[in-house]
Amino acid sequence: MSGERRQIVIIGGGITGLAAAFYLEKEIKKNDLPAEVTLVEASPRLGGKMQTVHKDGYVIERGPDSFLERKQSAPQLVKDLGLEHLLVNNATGQSYVLVSETLYPIPEGAVMGVPTKIGPFLTTGLFSLPGKLRAGMDLVLPASKPQEDQSLGEFFRRRVGGEVVENLIEPLLSGIYAGDIDRLSLMSTFPQFYQTEQKYRSLIIGMKKSRGAQSVGKPANKKKGQFQTVKTGLQTIVEELEKQLGITKVYKGTKVVSIERAGSAYSMKLDNGKVLHADSAVVTAPHKAAAAMFQKEDWLKGLEDMVSTSVANVALGFPEEAVQMEHQGTGFVISRNSDFSITACTWTNKKWPSTTPEGKVLLRAYVGKAGDESVVEQSDNEMVKIVLDDLKRIMKIDGEPEMTCITRWHEAMPQYHVGHKKRIKEIREGLEASYPGVFITGASFEGVGIPDCIDQGKQAVADVLSHLFE
Ligand SMILES: Cc1cc2nc3c(=O)[nH]c(=O)nc-3n(C[C@H](O)[C@H](O)[C@H](O)COP(=O)(O)OP(=O)(O)OC[C@H]3O[C@@H](n4cnc5c(N)ncnc54)[C@H](O)[C@@H]3O)c2cc1C
Repeated sequence: MSGERRQIVIIGGGITGLAAAFYLEKEIKKNDLPAEVTLVEASPRLGGKMQTVHKDGYVIERGPDSFLERKQSAPQLVKDLGLEHLLVNNATGQSYVLVSETLYPIPEGAVMGVPTKIGPFLTTGLFSLPGKLRAGMDLVLPASKPQEDQSLGEFFRRRVGGEVVENLIEPLLSGIYAGDIDRLSLMSTFPQFYQTEQKYRSLIIGMKKSRGAQSVGKPANKKKGQFQTVKTGLQTIVEELEKQLGITKVYKGTKVVSIERAGSAYSMKLDNGKVLHADSAVVTAPHKAAAAMFQKEDWLKGLEDMVSTSVANVALGFPEEAVQMEHQGTGFVISRNSDFSITACTWTNKKWPSTTPEGKVLLRAYVGKAGDESVVEQSDNEMVKIVLDDLKRIMKIDGEPEMTCITRWHEAMPQYHVGHKKRIKEIREGLEASYPGVFITGASFEGVGIPDCIDQGKQAVADVLSHLFE
C-alpha cells in the first residue's frame, strides 16, 4: 500500500469490469484522486464473453456480435476509445420465425412480437384466425392490477393469447435470454411492456403510440439497422481498452479466491498465493463465481440460487454456390414447439457483410436453451452434424462447410427469474451490511446486454468514488 492512496480492486475483466476500470481511471485523472486501481481476471485473456476469432478471412464472434445503438453507452465507449471509424450498423433485411417446418416473415411493425400494424398482422400466415382474433382482444381487455412482478409468459398470454406468444413473442424474447418465458421476470427484462399496459391499457395501442427504434421484422425503408458492432470484431474494443488502461495494474490468469474483512478494508486472496489490499472493490465475475468469494451468510443464498443456462453457437463458412436460400433476409428464430435442435440462425454475411470474405457465406446457428441444454455437451463433429441437419431442412446446402467454429458457453446466460429485482436488492443490502465498499454488478444483475453492462460498470465507479471520497 502506498501512503494515503486508496486501493480499488476490480474483479473480472469482462466488459463490465473493463468499462469500470476505464471510466474509473478517467475520474481519478480528472479529479486528481489519490487512488490506485487493480483489475484481476481469472482467464489469461480479457473480455469475458466478448471474444472474436479471425479464421480464413471470416470474423467470427464467439459471444455477442453487436449492441443496440439506441442504448448510448456502448457507441459512446467506442467513441471514447477513438474507434468510431470502425462502427458499422447491421444491414437491414427481413427476419423470419420458423414454426413447424415453415419460415414466416416476422410481420412488419411487430415490436418484440407485439403487433403495431394491423395490415401485416392480418395477412400473415403465422397465426390462425382464432389466434389473430384473440390477439385483437388486447384492444379491449382492461389493464391488469398493478403487481410487483410476473413472468413474461403470463403477461403476454393474458394480453395477446397463447398463439402469438408461442409463434412469435417466445422465440424472439427467449432468444435473448436463452430462457423460459414462463419463469423470466417481466420487470427485469422488458418493464416497458408493463408500463405500457398500465399507461395505455392496450399493448397494441400503447406500442403504436410509442413505437420507435425497437421495431423487429422488416423496418419500413430504413437503411440503417438498429444494432452496431466494430468492423474488426468486438474483441477490438477489449484490446483497445486494455491498451488504454494506464494506471490500472492488470493481473490476467489470476483468480480472486476470497474476500475477507480487514478492519475497514479488505484482503483478497488470489490463487497465486498473493494477497491484495482493497479499500473498495467491484465484483463483476458471474454470480456463481462471485458467491464463492464471500463468507457463508444468508444473503449469499440469493446469488447461489440464481440459475444460468448453457448455450453454444456454431459458425459455418461455405463457398457462395454451396448454399441456396429461397428466402432473402438476415436470419430466423425458431418457435419452441418446432422439432429442431437449433434455436436460431443468423445469415451473418447478409447481416454483417464485413465479417465474410467475398464469395463466401457465413451462417451462425445457436443451440441450447432453458430445459434443453444437453446439446451443448455434444462433440464438435456431432454438433456440426446436428446443426447442418437442421439447416438443410430450411435451405439447400451442398456438401460440408469449409470452415467451422464452435463455441460452448457453460452456465453463461444468467436467468432473471420472476422476483429478480427483489432478489438483487436483498443481495446488495446483505453485501452492504457485511462488506461496505464492496459492490457487485455485471450481467447477472441489471441487464445482460453490452450497453447494460457498461452502464453497470459506470454506476460501480460512482459507488466506489462516493464510498471512498464523499
Ligand atoms: C453467446 C452469447 C451471445 C451474446 N450476444 C449478445 C449480443 O449480441 N449483444 C449483447 O449486447 N449481449 C450479448 N450477450 C450478453 C453479453 O455478451 C454479456 O452479458 C456480457 O458480455 C457480460 O459481461 P460481464 O463483464 O458482465 O461478464 P463476463 O463477460 O462473464 O466477465 C466476467 C469475467 O469475470 C472473470 N472471473 C470469473 N471468476 C473470477 C474470479 N474468481 N476472479 C477474477 N475473475 C473472475 C471471468 O473470467 C470473466 O472474464 C451474449 C452472451 C452470450 C454468452
